[in-house]
Amino acid sequence: MTTAANGIVSTKTAALREAVDAVALHARFAAIVGAKNAIVAEAQLRTYECDGLLGYRVRPEIVVLPASTDEVAACVRLARELAMPVVPRGAGTGLSGGSLPSEGCVVIGLSRMRKILDVDLPNRVARVQPGVINLDITRAIGPDGYYYAPDPSSQSVCTIGGNIAENSGGAHCLKYGFTVNHVLGVTLVTPDGDVVEIGSAAGEPDVLGYDLVGVVVGSEGMTGIVTEALVRILRAPEKTQTLFATFPSTDEAGDAVSRIIGSGIVPAAIEMCDQLAIEAIVAATGVDWPLDVGALLLMDVDGVEADVDDTAARAREHLRAAGALDVRAPKDDAERQLAWKGRKAAFAAMGRISPNYHVQDGVIPRKDIAPVLREIAALGANAGLRIANVFHAGDGNLHPLVLYDARIPGQEHAAEEVAGEILRVCLRYGGSVTGEHGVGHDKACYLGEQFDEDDLETMQAIRTTFDPDQRFNPGKMFPTPRLCGDKPGTYVPHTAETSGEAGRG
Ligand SMILES: Cc1cc2nc3c(=O)[nH]c(=O)nc-3n(C[C@H](O)[C@H](O)[C@H](O)COP(=O)(O)OP(=O)(O)OC[C@H]3O[C@@H](n4cnc5c(N)ncnc54)[C@H](O)[C@@H]3O)c2cc1C
Repeated sequence: MTTAANGIVSTKTAALREAVDAVALHARFAAIVGAKNAIVAEAQLRTYECDGLLGYRVRPEIVVLPASTDEVAACVRLARELAMPVVPRGAGTGLSGGSLPSEGCVVIGLSRMRKILDVDLPNRVARVQPGVINLDITRAIGPDGYYYAPDPSSQSVCTIGGNIAENSGGAHCLKYGFTVNHVLGVTLVTPDGDVVEIGSAAGEPDVLGYDLVGVVVGSEGMTGIVTEALVRILRAPEKTQTLFATFPSTDEAGDAVSRIIGSGIVPAAIEMCDQLAIEAIVAATGVDWPLDVGALLLMDVDGVEADVDDTAARAREHLRAAGALDVRAPKDDAERQLAWKGRKAAFAAMGRISPNYHVQDGVIPRKDIAPVLREIAALGANAGLRIANVFHAGDGNLHPLVLYDARIPGQEHAAEEVAGEILRVCLRYGGSVTGEHGVGHDKACYLGEQFDEDDLETMQAIRTTFDPDQRFNPGKMFPTPRLCGDKPGTYVPHTAETSGEAGRG
C-alpha cells in the first residue's frame, strides 16, 4: 500500500493488495476443494450473504464447497490456521439467520455432499450426507413402504445438515417427534478439524454415556460440521385419515385442539390457519377452502386401519363439540395432497396479500392458543399491521406472520418490534422464543429473556468445550451487547426489490 505526499492512501494500491490477498486465500482453499469450488468472486458471494431471514446480509470472505469429510476437515484446519470464523451452510432456508455469514468468515457449504450412502431397511436406518434434501430420503425409500418422518414445510429444499443444526420440526412431528428423535449418530468435523463419530453406529441409541448426539442436534452449527448422519426411517402407516374442520374463530379452533389432545388422541398432525392465512393460501394455491370462516384445522390421524377409523370418529366428535362449522374428509388422495400442499406453501403464499412479511416462531402451552392469538391480534392492531397465523397447533408452535410494506418508512421496523413483542407474550405464557426455526442471529437478544445468566453460562460452557475460540458461527444464539439491537451489515435492497418484482419476506 502506498501513501501519497498529500497523505491519502492510494485506493488503487489498497484494492490491489486486497485482490492479491483474495487470490492467495482462494489458492489455499482451492488446493483442498478445487478452484471452482472456492468462491471469491463478488457476484457469486452475494448468493451466500443471507439465508431465509432476508433483512440481514454480510458478504463472506470466501465460500468453499467441499465434497467429502476429509475436505471439510482440511478446510476447517485451514480456517483455524488463518483464524477465520467458520459458518456452515446447508440450503440457506433458515429463518433465523443461522447461516448468516460473519465478517471475514469462510462459509462451508455442504450442498455438494448430497449422497444417500446406505439404506438398511431391516435395521430401519439410513446413512446420509449432510447436503441430502430432506424429502429425497422419503423419495428414495418410499417405494419400499418407508419414510423419513420430520417434515419441515421446506422439506423439498432444506438439507439434513440444516435440519440437524436447527432440530427442525414439521407438521407431523406432533406424533413422531422432532429431528432429535430421528438422528442416531453423526460424523462431526470438530472446530479443531478432527473427525469424530458420535452416537450409534449400529442403529439404536447408545444407552451408555452422555447424549452427545442430543448436544449436536440443535446446536446451530456451533459444535462442528456434520458430514454424515445415521437417521431413523419409519414404516409408512397403514392408513392415514385427513380431516378438515372450519370454525367461526380461532377461539373454537384452539379449544378443539385442547379437547382432542386432552382426550388422549395423538393425531399425526394438527395444523391451524386463521382467516388471513386462508385468504393467502387460497389465492396462491387454488385450494377450495371457504373464505368466510375464522379458522380451520387440518389434521391427520394415522396408524393401523381399524384404529384410525375409530380415532378419526372420536376426533370428529371433539371438533363438533368445540363448535366446528363443518368437518369433512378429502374425497380422494388428490384432494388430500392439495390440502397439504396449501398448508406447506403458506409462507410463500403471503406474497399474495402483502409485499413483505416477518415470520415469527414461538411456543406456548397449547391450551392457551385462543388467548395468545387474541393478544397477538391486539399487538398488530396497535401497530397498524395485519398478522396472519398458520402453525403447528398440536405442538403449540406458533408462526405469526407480521405483514408489512417495506416501501412505507418505518413499517419494517414496526413489524420487527411487533414480532419481538410476540415472543414476550409467548414467554409470559410459559413458552419459548423458538419452536423449530432456531435462535440464530434473529433472536439472540431474546434468549436472555428466557434464560438467566447461569443458564446461559452453562450453555456457553458446553459450546466452548467443542469450540474454545468460539469461531464456529460466532454472533449467533447467545446475546452479546454488540449484536443486540445492531444489524451486522447495511441492508442494500436488490434491484428486483426496488422495482417491485420481488419482496423480502
Ligand atoms: C418456506 C419455509 C418453510 C419452513 N418450514 C419449516 C418448518 O416447518 N419447520 C422447521 O423446523 N423449519 C422450517 N423452515 C426453516 C428451515 O427450512 C429449517 O431451519 C431448515 O432446517 C434449514 O435447513 P437448511 O439446509 O436450509 O440450513 P441453513 O439455513 O443453510 O442452515 C441452518 C443452520 O444449520 C447450520 N448448518 C447447516 N448445515 C450444517 C452442517 N452440515 N453441520 C452443522 N451445521 C450446519 C447453519 O450454520 C445454520 O446455523 C422453513 C423455511 C422456509 C423458507
